[in-house]
Amino acid sequence: MLNADNIRKDFPILSLSVYGKPLVYLDNAATTQKPRSVVDAIANEYYNVNANVHRGVHFLSQKATELHEQARETVRAFIHARSTSEIVFTRGTTESINLVATCFSQACMKEGDEVIISAMEHHSNIVPWQMAAGRMGIQLKVIPINDKGELLMEDYEKLFSPHTRLVSVAHVSNVLGTVNPVKEIISIAHDHGVPVLIDGAQSAPHMPIDVQELDCDFFAFSGHKTYGPTGIGVLYGKEKWLDQLPPYQGGGEMIQHVSFQHTTYNELPYKFEAGTPDYVGSHALAVAIDYLNTLGMDNIHAYERQLTDYAMRQMQQIEGMRFFGTADNKDAVISFLVGDIHHLDLGTLLDRLGIAVRTGHHCAEPLMHRLGIEGTVRASLAFYNTREEIDSLVAAIQRLKQMF
Ligand code: PLP
Repeated sequence: MLNADNIRKDFPILSLSVYGKPLVYLDNAATTQKPRSVVDAIANEYYNVNANVHRGVHFLSQKATELHEQARETVRAFIHARSTSEIVFTRGTTESINLVATCFSQACMKEGDEVIISAMEHHSNIVPWQMAAGRMGIQLKVIPINDKGELLMEDYEKLFSPHTRLVSVAHVSNVLGTVNPVKEIISIAHDHGVPVLIDGAQSAPHMPIDVQELDCDFFAFSGHKTYGPTGIGVLYGKEKWLDQLPPYQGGGEMIQHVSFQHTTYNELPYKFEAGTPDYVGSHALAVAIDYLNTLGMDNIHAYERQLTDYAMRQMQQIEGMRFFGTADNKDAVISFLVGDIHHLDLGTLLDRLGIAVRTGHHCAEPLMHRLGIEGTVRASLAFYNTREEIDSLVAAIQRLKQMF
């Protein structure tokens, strides 16, 4: 079992005080804190390596290119992709999904075609499809959920029609914590000859991912939620799909030859990486992944599950506690309201006690409508959180409740 007290020493920011109180950071679904090795890697690259990648014959450029391409291999191994050709660096989950929505719709869809998403999607997995729908006359179909926040799989099967071209769903909900049965979702879609994109923003940081075992066609995640830096993310795509898609943006890196009449495109994955890539970010992401590998993704998952169960048990004892998301298979995200206290009031007052939680609709307004609420307070956990921090959260909520 992981020892969070030891691990915390690797994250200098966790020893901060805010308003004179020890920081209790429970906003990990929004972004995670960075271990010292990641911050050091960024500084070290700028101090000792920095040069633009792929184009230089000189020492630094070759060294920077080596780190960037090693990072691609580290990401490949992290999600068990078959080849580094299938690993595209992007700015994050949002850009990865936008890339697929734009390029897939252009190459593989026509008016009247359909995309299936779910009722619990983040706006990043709704709006890009709506934009594609607006451009091309595509329809969105939505898998409904039950009151525990689980997908209704029988209804999912009924959504398929001869016009269904893609399924795009979250692996783990950023509001409900529900771990969706993605393997089953993918297998059903494949039975209909339909590819699947998995939004892994909330799964890649918390559990082992094997894209070959899942058999997903696309998988997206963000560096900054995976203990790495901001501004870097990943799109995994099966080679057979990436090969069929047109480039997303034009410019340097994605070309083979350019004349004023015609451009030929680079091989995978560079076809999708126009412009100077965030090569410092990719290397720092690889250092973050190395850190996670040292802890072990299985260990991280087991620890966070236990901590989530503990938190749910302790919070349940608070009178007036209402949880949103009580799926049987639930990860480290806890959304709640207490009595009739407004989520924003509760979040603001918790902040004054040093406890960082998120409030609002969590970029999932359609889900809020389904739940019949405007927003929630969300505590989202990581492997560096402790039972003592959960106890502080519970004590703080109890104290604030008395004030209302
Ligand atoms: N998808 C889910 C499930 C998320 O939780 C988030 C961020 O909270 C995103 C997509 C978007 O991630 P990013 O802002 O890093 O692109």
